[in-house]
Amino acid sequence: MQDKIDTLRNAEVAPQSLFIGGHWIPAESGQTIDVVSPIDGRLLTTLADAAPGDVDRAVRAARASFDKGSWSKASPQERKKVLLKIADLIDTHALELAVLGVRDNGTEISMALKAEPASAAGTFRYYAEAIDKIYGEIAPTASNVLGLIHREPVGVVAAIVPWNFPMMIGAWKIAPALAAGNSVVLKPAEGASLTLLRLAALCAEAGLPDGVLSVVTGRGAVTGEALGLHMDIDVLAFTGSGPVGRRLLEYSARSNLKRVYLELGGKSPNIVFADAPDLDQAAKVSAYGIFRNSGQVCVAGSRLLVEKSIHEEFAEKVAAIAASMKLGDPLDLKTEAGAISSKAQLMKDLGYAEQALAEGAHLRTGGKRILEETGGYFMQPTVFDLSPSMTLAREEVFGPILSIIPFDGEDEALRIANATDYGLASAVWTSNLSRAHRMVRGVKAGVVHVNTYGGSDNSVPLGGVKQSGNGHDKSLHAFDKYIDLKTAWIQL
Ligand code: NAD
Repeated sequence: MQDKIDTLRNAEVAPQSLFIGGHWIPAESGQTIDVVSPIDGRLLTTLADAAPGDVDRAVRAARASFDKGSWSKASPQERKKVLLKIADLIDTHALELAVLGVRDNGTEISMALKAEPASAAGTFRYYAEAIDKIYGEIAPTASNVLGLIHREPVGVVAAIVPWNFPMMIGAWKIAPALAAGNSVVLKPAEGASLTLLRLAALCAEAGLPDGVLSVVTGRGAVTGEALGLHMDIDVLAFTGSGPVGRRLLEYSARSNLKRVYLELGGKSPNIVFADAPDLDQAAKVSAYGIFRNSGQVCVAGSRLLVEKSIHEEFAEKVAAIAASMKLGDPLDLKTEAGAISSKAQLMKDLGYAEQALAEGAHLRTGGKRILEETGGYFMQPTVFDLSPSMTLAREEVFGPILSIIPFDGEDEALRIANATDYGLASAVWTSNLSRAHRMVRGVKAGVVHVNTYGGSDNSVPLGGVKQSGNGHDKSLHAFDKYIDLKTAWIQL
């Protein structure tokens, strides 16, 4: 497979257009955005820079397609057929999509292959299969009336997604929204639009009617804001940072009160007790749970809480694994952590490391930029010992930096774990079954892993509590975001 990757790694990428109403068109203004590859810092291609007028055209195309009914009123079987075909086409083009995505955002190819095309295809299949298994209800009303609860598509859905795992996260939103019969306008991140534009082409090839999926590329503060403020979008589904999530809520309040679902960041605690079943395995999974994709994973276990009695021994194990990870060329199948997605993000990560040192944290390994001679953006996996009050222990870095914090007993573990504005993921490692259940109940997070970290099944919801968000991607629960309930109250 490495041969095939190597033949694709330098393929020319044509300048990209917007995909609106089934047509590839430039932005009205003719403006473009440079796409720089984080692998070598070189220009890869350009994106069309959509302005509010372009966004309006995409929303009008979405509304027209919804009202026409060629998708929204198509039978579940017809919609299922198209979504399954999309999944098949993603599989057919998996390698090409994975390499294109890696050149765009720097994720190591071994992870991208699983987490991007393979995951997206699985998500399309999951929701395709679910379409004809969810339907309305008859309420247990008095016998002289009939209360019918209809489930209807909401209409036009806007999806705004981030630069890490664009296909996976894009599919988490597009697939259930389309399955439910909606039309979608998608805005990818500036740093990871290429695979989603390609996905739009595959959707059209699979027979998705014109206008049902449009893709508008551009800057968050312009293209994204225009979507947020648009008066004819019914639901806005977002994955990204907290500050942008707040803006989207404001846009909704200032426009048409569109429903806004937020999947935001995290500072997830990974709690290791001395009675963990296998400390070597726990150390390995903990290291990979933060350093894969160079820490650019929303659920990354970025705070490692270790019971005092094993603190030194365990921290050394994790630091040794971090120091031995194979870094560098994201298109090498053996690479375990690829590039930082952009120069700005690299500088931010390095800044956090400097600040931690200035605040007195103890650096166990890493902390530096590497492979600068390639022109790419690479940073060593970095491990600090620190106290919970330090900046690094509180703020989401979204980079390859792990904070290790010692604790003494369950109560202190829970106190430190929950002392954060976030509540996305977490883990607990213990052989004590009762303790495991107490911790699952006690940790305030959308996901609690026990004796593992990570998990990818489509059948389980992913969402946060507190300032990590208010919605769920994945599972049948994701349909709730894209469906309206309507009551028909019939006198008999
Ligand atoms: P970001 O918030 O900067 O950008 C996300 C998207 O919002 C991009 O498409 C961007 O163009 C757009 N955007 C930016 N400003 C906007 C504005 N003013 N109005 C409308 N749209 C705007 O996030 P990012 O840097 O792309 O991604 C990293 C963040 O995403 C991290 O915080 C990470 O934890 C989070 N994330 C969360 C999950 C989850 O499932 N909870 C998954 C992946 C990433």
